[in-house]
Amino acid sequence: MSQQQRKSIVVLTGAGVSAESGISTFRALDGLWQNHRVAEIASPQGFAVNPSLVHRFYNGRRQQLVSGTVQPNRAHLALAELEARFRGKFWLVTQNIDDLHERAGSEKVIHMHGELLKKRCAHCGDIGMATQALKITDTCARCHRTGGIRPHVVWFGETPLRMGEIYDALKCCDLFIAIGTSGNVYPAAGFVDAAAAVGAHTVELNLEPSAVESAFAEKKYGPAGTLVPDFISRLEG
Ligand code: NAD
Repeated sequence: MSQQQRKSIVVLTGAGVSAESGISTFRALDGLWQNHRVAEIASPQGFAVNPSLVHRFYNGRRQQLVSGTVQPNRAHLALAELEARFRGKFWLVTQNIDDLHERAGSEKVIHMHGELLKKRCAHCGDIGMATQALKITDTCARCHRTGGIRPHVVWFGETPLRMGEIYDALKCCDLFIAIGTSGNVYPAAGFVDAAAAVGAHTVELNLEPSAVESAFAEKKYGPAGTLVPDFISRLEG
């Protein structure tokens, strides 16, 4: 199918798309994220046990974003350009909590695992921007209770966001591209099956074969900063 004939593209990105911007990926071989066990810093139980540690962890990641030390790379930029040029429907679903897609110019971004630059009150559900460090003593602007302010990110055991919209997009896509994602975290790892079930062409672009590599019709391996611009220029060419 030529690019002109395509009606709808869904792109899924994971931590690998931001790796060359200097943001570490998650599932390094040791199962640690920035030297912390995932359960400690990415689960509601971890937050209940040690909220200060969890805040310190995300405050550090947030500071990295707001300080400008990380910038979008060629993969983020190529995806923003594809969205701007493509005449059909386009969705960029990301598991990433950073804002590098938006900073590259992407507009229709669905953050299924939340956003580091937002906070949420666990008591009343109020969501607000968070560009500064969060503390356990912070008070909610809406319900005025203390102790419930947390990063607006989806932790293990919690339901990803905007799943209805994502499955609606997958149901009508004719091209599905997964970039920089390990295929270990569900439901995102199952999106390739949903896209293939409606006849979409499925493509994996990753540093190495993912855990669900066999589900993809086409796969290319290498760093996203090279692979993604090359793939998109061939797609458009
Ligand atoms: P992951 O860390 O589990 O896997 C990353 C994948 O990217 C791996 O398969 C790895 O081989 C690949 N990769 C590494 N460097 C790459 C590169 N330069 N080019 C292309 N691919 C590369 O990430 P995941 O699958 O997204 O799932 C982990 C969870 O971690 C997500 O839920 C996400 O919310 C969270 N997370 C987010 C960020 C972020 O926001 N940038 C960073 C770390 C983890």
